[in-house]
Amino acid sequence: MIISMFKGKCPHCKKGDIFSAKGSSLLFKMPVMGKRCKICNYKFEVEPGFFFGAMFVSYALACAEMIACFVITWAILKIPVIYIFLCVVGIALLSSAFNFRLSRTIWMYLFYKKA
Ligand SMILES: [Zn+2]
Repeated sequence: MIISMFKGKCPHCKKGDIFSAKGSSLLFKMPVMGKRCKICNYKFEVEPGFFFGAMFVSYALACAEMIACFVITWAILKIPVIYIFLCVVGIALLSSAFNFRLSRTIWMYLFYKKA
């Protein structure tokens, strides 16, 4: 289940892709989500505004990544603070598309109920 979550697969059949386009932080392209699973026709957005809560997951992910980056650069690499700051900001920007995808997927898996 964790593997299909990271791959962005449908929570129902674990085969269909949730996102039709992966998106890229470097090109400022956000991932594009399909409305329904192409394989089992599972509706991803259960109710309007369902993904509002995914923002909190995304926020938590971004925080965790930034803290991890800070700890690595500060404690292990021991580089000047300005570089640590640039590194943390860089990670936050680069991982935004990834976080967007993962947070929505995690959110869907959290609230997925077998009908
Ligand atoms: Zn499916």
